[in-house]
Order: sequence, then C-alpha cells, then structure tokens
Amino acid sequence: TQILGADSSSGAATSVARAFCSSSTPITATLFPGDGIGPEIAESVKKVFTTAGVPIEWEEHYVGTEIDPRTQSFLTWDSLESVRRNKVGLKGPMATPIGKGHRSLNLTLRKELNLYANVRPCYSLPGYKTRYDDVDLITIRENTEGEYSGLEHQVVRGVVESLKIITRQASLRVAEYAFLYAKTHGRERVSAIHKANIMQKTDGLFLKCCREVAEKYPEITYEEVVIDNCCMMLVKNPALFDVLVMPNLYGDIISDLCAGLVGGLGLTPSCNIGEDGVALAEAVHGSAPDIAGKNLANPTALLLSGVMMLRHLKLNEQAEQIHSAIINTIAEGKYRTADLGGSSTTTEFTKAICDHL
Ligand code: NAD
Repeated sequence: TQILGADSSSGAATSVARAFCSSSTPITATLFPGDGIGPEIAESVKKVFTTAGVPIEWEEHYVGTEIDPRTQSFLTWDSLESVRRNKVGLKGPMATPIGKGHRSLNLTLRKELNLYANVRPCYSLPGYKTRYDDVDLITIRENTEGEYSGLEHQVVRGVVESLKIITRQASLRVAEYAFLYAKTHGRERVSAIHKANIMQKTDGLFLKCCREVAEKYPEITYEEVVIDNCCMMLVKNPALFDVLVMPNLYGDIISDLCAGLVGGLGLTPSCNIGEDGVALAEAVHGSAPDIAGKNLANPTALLLSGVMMLRHLKLNEQAEQIHSAIINTIAEGKYRTADLGGSSTTTEFTKAICDHL
C-alpha cells in the first residue's frame, strides 16, 4: 500500500517519483479541468505551478460531449488511460445531473480506476479566523461502494429501492489504509464512524473489519463513534478527532461539515488513492454553477490538492513553497476571494500567490 505523503522512502515513493529522481525529466500528470468553475481554478493551478518551476507536464483531458460506450459515461476512455499510464493526476469538479441522466463521472472514475480511499485533510489555516483555530483532522472515506453502488430501481409504482453494498474486502482495504496512514503520519487515534445500531449488517461488517485491522496497530488508539454523535462532537470540539475512517456516504457528508469548520469548501483538498498506485487529487467541492465563469472561485482547494499530489511525488520542496505562498497570501488578508470575505477575483488572488512564491 502506498501511503500518501508518508515520510518513509520505502513503499511510499511512487515509481513515477523514482523515475523522475533518476532521470530529471519532467513528470507527466493527467489534468481534468472539469466543469463549472473547474477550468478557472485549473488555470490558477497551472499558473502557480509554472511560476514555482514545478517539473510537471500536464496531459489535459476534458469531459466528452457524447457517452463513450467503453466507460458508459461522458468520460472518455482516453482520459482514463491517461491516468492509468501516468499514475498521477489532478481533477477539477465534475457536475452530475440530479435524479436523471448519465452515470456520474466521479463514480465512473472511482470505479474504473479502483480509487478505494479518499483522503481529506482538514486543518485550520493560520491567519484565517474561524470559530476554531485547532482543527487538524483527516477523514478517510471508503470510495467504491456503500450507497454509491448505483444499484437503484423501482420495485412497484411509488416504491423505489436503493442497495447499500458493504464488502469485507473494501472495508478491510480502507481500514488498513487509515491505520497505515495514522502510523506513517505520527497520528495517534483512528475513529471508525458508523450507524451500526441501525444498519446492523452493513455498518456492522464495516466495524468488524475496522476492529480486525485495529488489532494489528496496538500503538494507535481505536474508537467507534455513531455518525450523529460524531457530527455533534465535531461541531462542539473538533480537536477530539484525529483520523476518521468511514463508509462512502458518511465520508461525503462529514468532510463537508469539516470544511465548514475551517472556512468552507473553497479551502479543502483531497486525494483519491487507487490499488495500483494511482493518486488522483481533487478539491472536495463541486462545480459551483452559481459562480462559474465569473472569475470569483477560490482556487485554494484545488491548489492544496495539487500540493498533496506533489507530496505524493516526493516533490516536497515545491509542495512546501506553494503551500506557504497560499497560507501567507490568505493570512495577509489583502487578496482574498469572496467566499473568504474578500473582493479579489480568482485571477488577482492567483497572482498574489505567485508573488509570494
Ligand atoms: P458545490 O460544492 O459545487 O457548491 C456549494 C457551494 O459552495 C456553492 O455556493 C458554491 O458557490 C460554493 N463553492 C464551492 N466551491 C467553491 C470555490 N472553490 N470557491 C468559492 N465558492 C465555492 O456543490 P453543489 O452545488 O451541491 O454541486 C454542484 C455540482 O457539482 C453538482 O453537479 C454536483 O454533482 C457536483 N459535485 C462534484 C463533485 C466532484 O467533482 N468531486 C463534488 C461535489 C459536487
């Protein structure tokens, strides 16, 4: 298992990074600008990376305009092949029509690339005041099953059914990732989030797998927290949590709650981890159609996702440089986008980050 950003050089360094170190040639990474605000914030990432001299060449892929029979969605087969080949990529948000239409592009990506764990760090940004200044937690979301299995149908008129699938294999895999992540990042506690009192079979199996894995890591404190109680605890005292691991839907909801604790969706990055060494970083937020095309989007979440990608590639110096430039720009307060209470455009904010590099 490759653990994102882990310090140990064995196992964690990707073959892509090793190839880079030995040849000093640029690394090719796939870039999905995505929908809505995606192209605007992807432009910002490209500008900041170029200014910082990051040795990455982007292979850009846009969402197709017709359904590709091989993916059964608007995602082109070529774009999936690009990620499989490069093993590393950055993804902008992709829109999914509500209640109708084609297979979700995000689900297609996760299934086709077997992106089984979604790692979402959430921490207070120094210099940007929210109710808390001590949030520092990681949510790890099972990314391939649960309520997202796509198994929904009408039983009879007026009755529909949606199947929640939990498997031992996927639960063990994500639990193992969470504990290894905690261990390699000096974290002390893993909390499994569940509703096994009601979903006895599905969440019950998820917990059983987490317990099994926890036994292999006696140095890490393991606890189980019911999801509703978890929400209350997070809002009252987020410092109670360290690493949280949970089934798919809970991860989707809890990570947005966590984003709210530190300043909103414009700030929170993530990275999807695949079984065959693929890492696809993406912002937690969606395509924000309400502000798309207006040069108002905050590119921080996608930039910080890019920073996660750089750490995965062991380009730590550039990762730190870009991270500091973002933090310092926000802390200084002169250039902030509207979601952070400022009046800067995406372009002005991006330029300010470049000036801080
Ligand atoms: P959203 O995250 O797009 O927007 C929620 C709110 O947050 C909006 O008010 C938006 O303006 C704001 N916001 C989000 N990102 C921002 C940013 N970078 N800067 C400033 N403000 C920002 O959620 P939604 O409206 O529920 O979803 C819109 C579309 O995105 C839907 O089609 C949904 O399926 C899709 N979506 C995609 C992903 C993904 O690609 N991973 C994730 C979530 C939603």
